[in-house]
Amino acid sequence: MIKLKSSKAKAVPYFCEFMKKKIYADNAATTSIDEIALQKMLEFLRNDYGNASQPYSFGRIAKKAIGESREQIASFIGALPEEIYFTSCGTESDNWAIKNVPHYKTIITSSIEHHAVLNACKAISNSTQIITLQVEKDGLINCGELDRALHQLSLVQKPVLVSIMTANNEIGTIQPIKRLAEIAHSYGAIFHTDAVQAIGHIDINVRDLNVDMLSASAHKFNGPKGVGFLYVKKGVALNPFIDGGAQENGMRAGTENVASIVGMSVALKNNIDSLKQNAIYVSELENQLIQHLNLSHLDYIRNGNENHIPGNINISIKNADGEMILHRMDLKGICISTGSACDSVNSQVSHVIKALGIDDSYAQGTIRISLGKNNTPE
Ligand code: PLP
Repeated sequence: MIKLKSSKAKAVPYFCEFMKKKIYADNAATTSIDEIALQKMLEFLRNDYGNASQPYSFGRIAKKAIGESREQIASFIGALPEEIYFTSCGTESDNWAIKNVPHYKTIITSSIEHHAVLNACKAISNSTQIITLQVEKDGLINCGELDRALHQLSLVQKPVLVSIMTANNEIGTIQPIKRLAEIAHSYGAIFHTDAVQAIGHIDINVRDLNVDMLSASAHKFNGPKGVGFLYVKKGVALNPFIDGGAQENGMRAGTENVASIVGMSVALKNNIDSLKQNAIYVSELENQLIQHLNLSHLDYIRNGNENHIPGNINISIKNADGEMILHRMDLKGICISTGSACDSVNSQVSHVIKALGIDDSYAQGTIRISLGKNNTPE
């Protein structure tokens, strides 16, 4: 039997006490699981655990659940069920879209994409030309810049993939995706968007936006971690991500994560059903917090654009140290972020904040507070 050392035994009750009091304000990093989604997942983990590839009725229960989840998710974003491929996360969806479109010689992306896109591009940069568009001070892509880049490439007739995120994970800025996709298509390019921060928080319809591929991740909309999806418009050529069995129409082999797929569709349904109310509620909390910040006479600038993901507050405080603020907030049981959570081992100013050209005296003092539907005015 393993005995706990006495110091650890004491630490546990303290930690529990702390967790009870915590204020979670880092919803752009991840969200709490939707209770109904969790209950549904437990059914598939405990009882209906059959393998969806088996033809007997126990296996068919799982297969049916996957099919229904696919139909439901497709209907929420205006896609066809056969255009939805389940993946293990947003990072996988991005990697699939970036690395597996055949014949493409050039990728145009932006300087503020998530590392899932930027590093996927870097990994193939020996064989593919990567063009990185800079952003405006508020994080917006200049549509004219995309047009110019595509125009130059069209002179040498290179097949192009454009990958621009729907909303940024650090500053929340929402890009004019419909217009950007329109420009890309006018030059015969394929358009992918990383919608990981957007799905479940703002209206997304792939037909209306006219995007060719779109990445999503369940844990950003109160679903479980370790599951996501990639939308691929019918007719868009894409190589399989993993070879093996016939799952996901032979495009992404491996026994399906049934419980998580079901949990993802239930969580998305619940978020979309209350999308407008959530947005109004969270924006109200956001305004209250900004009012309080302003009363404090803090010398800070707010980063991003007015058109942003509800609840995202990214600020840079003059002569402050974001890392230190994070740890001092942590001692008070408050979870916030500097830069993005995926960068938390790295105390340098994030690539997004650098791309905005924020003055050095403010940049180091950047924090992100991301409110969600479970936060309260208190
Ligand atoms: N893309 C964006 C914009 C994100 O914010 C994240 C996660 O923070 C990812 C991709 C990666 O998603 P996942 O954590 O599901 O791999």
